[in-house]
Amino acid sequence: MWEFPNFCISLRTEITICQFFISLSMETKRPKILIIYTGGTIGMMENPVTHTLQPFDFSHLMENVPKVQLLDYDIDNIQFSSPIDSSNMNPQHWSEIAKAIEKNYDKYDGFVVLHGTDTMAFTASALSFMLENLSKPVIITGSQLPIGEVRTDGEENLITALQVAAATDAAGNAMIQEVAILFENYLWRGNRSTKMSADNFNAFRSNNYPELAKIGLGILFHEEALYRLPSKRPLKVRYDMDPNVMFIQLNPGMTPEILNHLLHTPNIKGIVLKTYGAGNSPSEPWFTQLINEANERGIVILNVTQCVNGGVKQSLYETGDCLSQAGVVSGHDITSEAAITKLMYLFGLGLPSETVKTYLQSAICGEVTIQN
Ligand code: ASP
Repeated sequence: MWEFPNFCISLRTEITICQFFISLSMETKRPKILIIYTGGTIGMMENPVTHTLQPFDFSHLMENVPKVQLLDYDIDNIQFSSPIDSSNMNPQHWSEIAKAIEKNYDKYDGFVVLHGTDTMAFTASALSFMLENLSKPVIITGSQLPIGEVRTDGEENLITALQVAAATDAAGNAMIQEVAILFENYLWRGNRSTKMSADNFNAFRSNNYPELAKIGLGILFHEEALYRLPSKRPLKVRYDMDPNVMFIQLNPGMTPEILNHLLHTPNIKGIVLKTYGAGNSPSEPWFTQLINEANERGIVILNVTQCVNGGVKQSLYETGDCLSQAGVVSGHDITSEAAITKLMYLFGLGLPSETVKTYLQSAICGEVTIQN
């Protein structure tokens, strides 16, 4: 699946204003960064016949970013043999990205994943679970406009992602030790991020977690927000992501027939129930009965609010409490993307439903805030 072009950039930088704000490795050793190109708008070109945007190969992409050569880094790259629009992303692709990171983990200081924006937050969330004990930066970025466009945001995003991946703290350790999304003016925790805009350059946001860094004249890291492992352990990659999960989004007027049909989806193990407000749903007997029956069949149902900001408080209203009574687990302030990939990861570990529910009530890698 991977292509390893014989391509390595090892070039010298000019002084940049960012050096006042970020501490790049000052030792003689240059930062070594691996770019993993999967596709997305950043590398797309217009098909002359259909006029649609299609993924293109990496050499085209790098030719359009000559400024990368000003960075004093050793940069290698690999790419999907056929770069994809991220709407085609699936767990097999996540495994390919994770495998590339695992194989090259000791050789590089950091990783930059170039990815389409449409499912970037899902990939970021999935990788955060799959890459257990990650202590190096995995910075995912892309762009809203192709790199060849005059007004592209791709050049800036790529260069800043490389700088973030190379940044170190005062002790010389990697500043970022988690999966993060770099887009325009912000660095966000990957499993806290959501695509918010289909056309704004600031396309991503963490609605329930502060930014990891603000990108302006310089890169200002918010160190108190950064994830750190409780103790350093070797990277362990979990490749099995169970796809037998899905979203059910509530809407007024949902009928018992529709809900019953969805809850009887073949092989389904986990459901992210997208509820109203603070985690509320209809409290009518037919509704809670169907949910309760699904719970008794061993289906894990995780309550995530449809609101972009705030979280689930299942005991606040009777319409939320009825879900607790029916065995639904609160998703607190987790994003939909992190919720669905967390279910995939936990079922992928082969855990029984009750254990999955227990893990849903704790943060595995900074994806949720549990308030007692
Ligand atoms: N459809 C594109 C993708 O997700 C959109 C983008 O990259 O912005 O691959």
